Amino acid sequence: MTKVNSSPLILNGRTVANEVHKQIKDEMKQIVRENKRIPGLAVVLVGEDPASYTYVKNKEKACIELGLHSEVYRLPTNITEPELIKLIYSLNNNTNIDGILVQLPLPKHINTEKLLEQINPTKDVDGLHPYNLGNLLSGKGYLKPCTPQGVIEILKHYSINLKNKSAVVIGRSTLVGKPLALLLLEENVTVTIAHSKTNNLDKVSREADILICAAGKPKLVKRNWVKSESVVIDVGINKITENGVSKLVGDVDYDEVSAVCQAITPVPGGVGPVTIAMLMANTLKAYKRNNN
Ligand code: NAD
Repeated sequence: MTKVNSSPLILNGRTVANEVHKQIKDEMKQIVRENKRIPGLAVVLVGEDPASYTYVKNKEKACIELGLHSEVYRLPTNITEPELIKLIYSLNNNTNIDGILVQLPLPKHINTEKLLEQINPTKDVDGLHPYNLGNLLSGKGYLKPCTPQGVIEILKHYSINLKNKSAVVIGRSTLVGKPLALLLLEENVTVTIAHSKTNNLDKVSREADILICAAGKPKLVKRNWVKSESVVIDVGINKITENGVSKLVGDVDYDEVSAVCQAITPVPGGVGPVTIAMLMANTLKAYKRNNN
């Protein structure tokens, strides 16, 4: 990794996603050439949340672009838990479907953990079934959560040296923070997990060679939270209104932090596109395992 002048290296998620897409397209060509069944992804969306709607649209778009079979189930907010479980069971048994993703968050009357446990672990392309999370913990993860995988993919794409480095992960969710810490450990990074109850978060963050923020708090990380050699990965996606204009920002105050750090992901265009690319890669992975 080289830093140009005093401006930080921008870790472009779209470039990384394109690289992953290229590999998937090559494998898809081979599948088509051999006249095999096309890998399929089913996405289940409950309710009308606009952000979730956009995420699902982007996943559908990626499937189409890469030639994967895509099924999207857009369901009303008042769907019952038994009805949703019935759909999951039918997708578990659907031989055209290799990956099942339930878009989160779900409405309050649905027990998210219970629902995710109904997904056949071999089709759990979000990597959130306890079976897959358990395997991740023991270092044998196969279908791993997409966003944490995406963060590692970005760091590797830009040849950022991980060995013997220290990372601070802000956020301890099952979706991002915790699995990301495990993946960083696998890369021999010394990891600290910080969260909303951590004291002196600015001081803790300043120790990091690699600072990753997944807190869901717009512009939480300020200039004095990072050291000049640090690599900053911003997982957060927050919609805010500034000067009457609505826009997406990360958990990092980009203008402040990019003035001091070594490398940084933008929002949008950072972790988001790579997360979707990893979902596509997981679908292909699930397909290959179930077909061999
Ligand atoms: P979450 O709400 O489940 O977890 C947030 C975590 O941050 C919690 O563990 C909490 O302890 C910690 N936290 C909250 N406020 C904090 C504070 N002030 N200081 C320190 N820690 C704090 O959220 P999540 O699902 O992990 O998502 C986090 C963010 O990442 C959200 O903005 C979400 O939209 C975004 N996200 C982005 C992608 C992507 O593809 N880029 C994927 C998933 C989530």
